Amino acid sequence: MITQELKTLYQKMGISEEVLGYGEEILEGLKERYAQIDAVAEYNQAKVVHAMQECKVSEACLLGTTGYGYNDLGRDTLEEVYAHIFHTEDALVRPQITCGTHALALALMSNLRPGDELLSPVGKPYDTLEEVIGIRPSKGSLAEYGVTYAQVDLLADGGFDWEGIRKAINERTKLVTIQRSKGYQTRPTLSVSRIGELIAFIKNIKPDVICMVDNCYGEFVETIEPTDVGADMAVGSLIKNPGGGLAPIGGYIVGKKECVENAAYRLTSPGLGKEVGASLGVLSKFYQGLFLAPTVTAGALKGAIFAANLYERMGFAVVPNSTETRHDIIQAVTFGTPEGVIAFCQGIQAGAPVDSYVTPEPWDMPGYDAQVIMAAGAFVSGSSIELSADGPIKPPYAVYFQGGLTWQHAKFGILKTVQACIDAGIVDRNFKRVV
Ligand SMILES: *Cc1c(COP(=O)(O)O)cnc(C)c1O
Repeated sequence: MITQELKTLYQKMGISEEVLGYGEEILEGLKERYAQIDAVAEYNQAKVVHAMQECKVSEACLLGTTGYGYNDLGRDTLEEVYAHIFHTEDALVRPQITCGTHALALALMSNLRPGDELLSPVGKPYDTLEEVIGIRPSKGSLAEYGVTYAQVDLLADGGFDWEGIRKAINERTKLVTIQRSKGYQTRPTLSVSRIGELIAFIKNIKPDVICMVDNCYGEFVETIEPTDVGADMAVGSLIKNPGGGLAPIGGYIVGKKECVENAAYRLTSPGLGKEVGASLGVLSKFYQGLFLAPTVTAGALKGAIFAANLYERMGFAVVPNSTETRHDIIQAVTFGTPEGVIAFCQGIQAGAPVDSYVTPEPWDMPGYDAQVIMAAGAFVSGSSIELSADGPIKPPYAVYFQGGLTWQHAKFGILKTVQACIDAGIVDRNFKRVV
């Protein structure tokens, strides 16, 4: 409910009564969906707490080690907790894994050998993996080590190319990589159950192939994870969903004992594996972030759905659309003009708790073929479970946004974007797009 007190405060924070009213009208229609999201969050909250209890997380686990990190109780117990949540034999959860790309590279490079082939049956992988694989040449890529790569694109309707996949699997196919989230593409995000169908099909053709899922942005969106439907490994970043906004660094690999062991031997050293790797002071944040992750993810999802509904009603194309079920936390809005992308990002920035007074501008970022504008005012630098947005300044002029540590903050940030679009003349006073 919007009290006079809240209206006055929002006005001080730059949101007009009209924009607030428009938001409330949209929210009226979302109650049922939000209740479903809360139900998933309740299940996942119980799953996390149950795992922590079963693994006997104690106060001592929250402390860390230094140096070699032998017998790091908190680190080893946290890995047990992850294995419990994902229903896997083992887990590697470390601050020494620097980001999502690193976790994925580690999982690939440790489980592939020269002469093996890697297959992506879901089209082009995330941008940063192109250099890991060697699609774009890079020092130390899998290609340099004699690992080849095959790709089967999704069909035009987003479906799997079953025949193409069957043909692509050969005696050298060792590992299949499946990206759950669409990332910054226009294909649909895969549901866990569709991932399960794909894995079953592949295992039927070649039972010993390793199926790995890039789980970035997908954790806790559903009540099951890819490892519940046959994935041998799931991999992700702790500065996205599972870090709950508190983890200041880190990545995870969960899966079969042998796969995780290979990754540990590669991360530290052959022979040492999981036995070393001091956790320093980050464990309490890893635990507490994981504890918060189900509700943080739920808040981000509510924000994504709120934005999809607001912007679709104003006349913009949104992916996913206002009614689709969600399998990750990313929302795309297509503006069709650079001004729209810029106004949206400036609105997100103006809604941030940190650096709200700076104005983001498009710039020539390394690795991109067009200018890019990015908005983030995060407690953890680059964290995309916190409210953040970015968009390349090129057709179709779409902005991608995600996150929000609380639903209330996501709502505020999104209202700021609507206000920014009105102030910039991109949307009129009747909440309709102008161009
Ligand atoms: C974010 C992301 C990555 C890479 O993670 P970084 O932490 O940015 O290196 C890989 N795959 C997908 C689908 C992602 O969303």
